[in-house]
Amino acid sequence: MARYTGAVCKLCRREGQKLFLKGDRCYTGKCALERRSYAPGQHGQARNRKPSEYSLQLRAKQTARRYYGLSESQFHKYYEMADRATGMTGTNLLRICESRLDNAVYLLGWGASRAEARQLVSHGHFKVNGQKVDIPSYLLKAGDAISIKEQSRESEKIKQVLESNGAHPVPAWLERGGEAFEGKVTVLPERDQIHVPVEEHLIVEFYSK
Ligand code: SF4
Repeated sequence: MARYTGAVCKLCRREGQKLFLKGDRCYTGKCALERRSYAPGQHGQARNRKPSEYSLQLRAKQTARRYYGLSESQFHKYYEMADRATGMTGTNLLRICESRLDNAVYLLGWGASRAEARQLVSHGHFKVNGQKVDIPSYLLKAGDAISIKEQSRESEKIKQVLESNGAHPVPAWLERGGEAFEGKVTVLPERDQIHVPVEEHLIVEFYSK
């Protein structure tokens, strides 16, 4: 399935919660969900019926997939990886999504949103363990060092991103270097360090049918 290219605020309104897809705007009164907290479309304001079990599972899966900006096939592939790994499948799945390079770049404050972080990674602005990596889906491991490429530190775009987001708090499983050009995965995150607003057991139930 192709990546969604429509208005991203509609995705939050569809899921009924903030997915933080638009950077700083998400934290202001301009957030579309704060102004129109009902689902988009002709029937968006219709009185909701009690959702079915399937509907809850589908919504949980869509929420997580949209939060990370993943296609259906990519997300399903991660589910299969998570299912094969030891441990809780739901937690494994979220940990895999968190460990993507584009997600870590966003969390390190090097992108205003995951979409912007993905674009900056694709444009080759980052290194992992000293090697240029331009694959947003690259999966990081504990101990990996991430850095902004030396040449990119002078680019206007990177300077602007750092100025706007470089002081954002970083989750405990990541570490940002003093000069803000370097980061490290200290350990892969535990569930309580992952803030995606879903009950992951619903996703597992969705795919286990
Ligand atoms: Fe979602 Fe951000 Fe748009 Fe609000 S501003 S609806 S949080 S993408």
